[in-house]
Amino acid sequence: MTYKEVPVPHTKSIALIAHDNKKKELLDWVRHNKEKLEQHRLSATGTTGTMLERELSIPVKKFQSGPLGGDQQIGANIVDGDIDMLIFFWDPLEPQPHEPDVKALLRLTVVWNIPVATNRSSADFLISSPLLSADYSRLIPDYDTIKQRLEPE
Ligand code: PGA
Repeated sequence: MTYKEVPVPHTKSIALIAHDNKKKELLDWVRHNKEKLEQHRLSATGTTGTMLERELSIPVKKFQSGPLGGDQQIGANIVDGDIDMLIFFWDPLEPQPHEPDVKALLRLTVVWNIPVATNRSSADFLISSPLLSADYSRLIPDYDTIKQRLEPE
């Protein structure tokens, strides 16, 4: 398998999502890390983004609400190379109407080798990494070569 390097700038594009029962926890985490997060570009699913803007007065690009396709929009932005990191406080105790979207989004973070935190302690580790504010090279499999191999002659 060959790999390609994708440059990730020192200013990151960070997507934030919290399921309803986790929104207070995310708000608390963002408040705690506001100074660091403000140095990056933030985006979020609709309700999460509105809450963060209202409560913390930080600019957040808002996608649709998660159940209306926001998770899929974030996934598409990962594929386009427009999101460098995902903080996703998901709720393991409540069924979600958009469960397939959640699974698809997490799958894309693996496909494109995007750092992702799905709970608060992982988010703490990501936010305190020196790589957060450094240039970085993200390695991804060379999907062009794989595609060529799969195409009929
Ligand atoms: P929301 O979406 O921020 O619009 O509530 C989150 C989600 O459930 O994916």
